[in-house]
Amino acid sequence: MPRKPFKPICPKCGYDQSGEIATWKSQCPINGRCNECGIPFQWADIFDPSRTRLHWYAEHARSLTNFLSATPKTLIRIILPHRFWRTVDTTKDLRPMCLIAWVIFVMILSHLIVSIPNGILARSAYNWNGTTIGQHYQMYGGYGIAEILFVAIAFPYFNALPRASSFRWTLFIETGWPEAWYQSFFKVINFQLGFLVLWLLILAVIPTTRSIAKIRTGHVIRAACLSALWIFLSYELSRALRIMHALTDPIHNLYWFFDGWIVPVSGLWQVLFWSCAVSIGWKVKQWKSLVLLGTAAALLGGTALSIYAFLYAT
Ligand SMILES: [Zn+2]
Repeated sequence: MPRKPFKPICPKCGYDQSGEIATWKSQCPINGRCNECGIPFQWADIFDPSRTRLHWYAEHARSLTNFLSATPKTLIRIILPHRFWRTVDTTKDLRPMCLIAWVIFVMILSHLIVSIPNGILARSAYNWNGTTIGQHYQMYGGYGIAEILFVAIAFPYFNALPRASSFRWTLFIETGWPEAWYQSFFKVINFQLGFLVLWLLILAVIPTTRSIAKIRTGHVIRAACLSALWIFLSYELSRALRIMHALTDPIHNLYWFFDGWIVPVSGLWQVLFWSCAVSIGWKVKQWKSLVLLGTAAALLGGTALSIYAFLYAT
């Protein structure tokens, strides 16, 4: 397959720099500036964006070991959005597919970690008709073990039961109560989800605000991926707290204290994260109006989705 011809573009707005390069006669300058958005850059970074990769950042990982070692470092750095965006600015190489893969990896990993106490909880709640795991295996074979694993991952949203049908065992899967979906899932994520969707509308769909932002789609994808990861991790934290609370009652007060704070604190983080992306990371010229408009719209979106889910569930 023929390789796509290399196109020198501005790392921030994607403006084609071929015209500028065509004016070079006998020598090429070291530094340049985009005629479209005004961002200064080094020409070497335009020709080889991999020069701008960060060793600690998972999106820029060069190998599997680097991918794994960069995971905790990236997670720690996104806690403080202003510091994160100061480093991961528009001059840094965009690798959306790598970032998406990393976000999915962290989501699956965090869910599996929290599934261990969830499995223990489901077992103590049901006790599987008073059987041990060994007896369970003897009774239902592989389906018994599949039930244990499935319940650990999906309880209380789905439940699995080994059932006999036409002389063989199968796994029967039933959906959990709508109340469980709302209380432990939508209630935690819906404000942040509405917030994220509205920011995406502002930055990627509405033409007026798009032209104010003047950034490549990859930068929006980067912010959206990390924002979505935060939503998921705040959900997993709430899930872990709920499970630990059900398993060990002494942390009762601690549970109510932390669980009450997860939604407002993670919502506040989203406000900060997107504001810092626009002002510090992307250095949008009219950042004040864009942050104001984006935050107001996103807050409305988050609130609207929260109210809708509440009315739907009650
Ligand atoms: Zn530009």
